[in-house]
Amino acid sequence: SFLALRIGNKKADERRTFGYKRIEILTALLNASLLIAISVFLIIEAIDRFIKPTPVEGGLMLVVALIGLIANLVGVMLLHPHSHGSINIKAAWLHLIGDTVSSVAVVVGGIAIMWLNVIWIDPVITIGVALYLVKESWNIVYETTNILMQGAPRDFPFDNLIREATSIEGISDIHHIHLWNLDDQTLHFEAHICLSQDMSLSEADRIRGLLEGRLKEMFHIGHVTLQTEYHGCRPTNIQHHTNP
Ligand SMILES: [Zn+2]
Ligand SMILES: [Zn+2]
Ligand SMILES: [Zn+2]
Repeated sequence: SFLALRIGNKKADERRTFGYKRIEILTALLNASLLIAISVFLIIEAIDRFIKPTPVEGGLMLVVALIGLIANLVGVMLLHPHSHGSINIKAAWLHLIGDTVSSVAVVVGGIAIMWLNVIWIDPVITIGVALYLVKESWNIVYETTNILMQGAPRDFPFDNLIREATSIEGISDIHHIHLWNLDDQTLHFEAHICLSQDMSLSEADRIRGLLEGRLKEMFHIGHVTLQTEYHGCRPTNIQHHTNP
């Protein structure tokens, strides 16, 4: 996923005019899918241990698991501050947690057996964390799939946007609205706007610029493409695309 981040930061060129950001989305999707599979495996294994408990062989195993655990925890802490920013880093972070689970289970399970003489703690922790991982990974799978399907963000206020656009003096209608996420940060928007009268090109461009500014400011859209029309589209078309 770090390789993906590096590729993702490459500038757009003639071959990839949108840039390389979606490699991050693809990687996050793969990572999260893999993590769901691992979590399911962890759960099955934990249930197995729950049914027929096997004694944890003491000291050395505990030490090895502890070292692995510390290494994983360092990674988790290094990544965590950024995990709110990029979906790709979030997936990588979850993956590290997944790796950590097995060592946590061994360490805690070992301690529990040695000092408390209980054997159910290790599988219970494993199942708990694995379920958390499945839930978080599922969100990532959902979000990345939505981005790859050119879906609009959840709960985008289309009604407000249409109201805002048509409230601008000179714009009578907005249609053929398409809104999609390029990656988890940048929103792209395209639409046709109908001008209410036959005006000069400079005047039409002033109105277009006004709308573009509002879309960027109020709806945090990063890239706007608008087609200005005067009696441009057929009514059926307008009907079809006004409500996305
Ligand atoms: Zn359209
Ligand atoms: Zn552009
Ligand atoms: Zn049109």
